[in-house]
Amino acid sequence: MSSLSCIRAAIGRNRVRVAAALTLAAAACTQTPEATPDLAPQRAERGADRGSHLGRHFAERFPRRPRVAATAAAILPVVWTTPYGHGLTQAPRVHPERSVEGRELLYWVLGDGPETVLLLGGIHGDERSSAEAAYDLLAVAVADPAALAGITLVLAPEVNPDGNAARSRRNARDVDLNRNFPSRNWRGDSSAHGPGTHPASEPETRFVLALLRMHAPTRVIATHAAAACVNWDGPAEALAERMSRECGLPVEATIGYPTPGSLGSYLGVDLAVPTITFELATKEEVGAALDGVRRALLVGLLPDPENPPPALPFAGLSEPPAR
Ligand SMILES: [Zn+2]
Repeated sequence: MSSLSCIRAAIGRNRVRVAAALTLAAAACTQTPEATPDLAPQRAERGADRGSHLGRHFAERFPRRPRVAATAAAILPVVWTTPYGHGLTQAPRVHPERSVEGRELLYWVLGDGPETVLLLGGIHGDERSSAEAAYDLLAVAVADPAALAGITLVLAPEVNPDGNAARSRRNARDVDLNRNFPSRNWRGDSSAHGPGTHPASEPETRFVLALLRMHAPTRVIATHAAAACVNWDGPAEALAERMSRECGLPVEATIGYPTPGSLGSYLGVDLAVPTITFELATKEEVGAALDGVRRALLVGLLPDPENPPPALPFAGLSEPPAR
């Protein structure tokens, strides 16, 4: 019997169970990583052999029904679709805390290389292109894990989902998240333009800080728009130049105005983590520039043999004090 016939036959015999499996899998895929620890690889006949997130979930849910697990994984490989229409075979992880308006804060962990890098998009909700570029890179990485040779990629394409929904730069409490990081230069007065009541006052900022503590990236890239440049903080000038060569956007040491409480101030200046603020040329669709943007991001994320990763500053970081 062909594999397709096997699947059809299995569906016929197990229609109700497959429907139940799909429902359970959908629920399982949105559980927090804390609630769902990494599953030991339990291999069902086929589905789990795909090595997919979904296959592992099915195998764990139906340990005595490997054919049901395999069938369900085979007929529904796409488990998450991005706002830009990319079908992904890997579901996001869900941060325990939600945005101000209650939206889930989602991220993916991809690859298994020794160096961990972090890519953040959609920090400013009116910069649609920044989320688009991050989702595009996510789709590339999920579809072609070999593209991530040497790294583990932690990717949060929409750090500010409320702002993205409202097309607003700031979050739902009118805070500019890129002025809310606990940097030494954080300022609470109006000249800081939406810094929040105190550093890391916002759940979306704490989401990013939690990713830093949990994953200790050696490089961080945040996509923004539309200053049209590759801006860098910390020991990242060479990295910015390599990215610039791929996309044609110029390297800029400063963005042209003060940014107290920014991610670059906190990570790059205070903690000396190579940090790139990748400013796209347009706030709307990336358009024809997407290919160069994708190449630049990949070059920025992949290991640079001439610049080995620095010592990690994140192990000693504690939670921001509650107020
Ligand atoms: Zn921005």
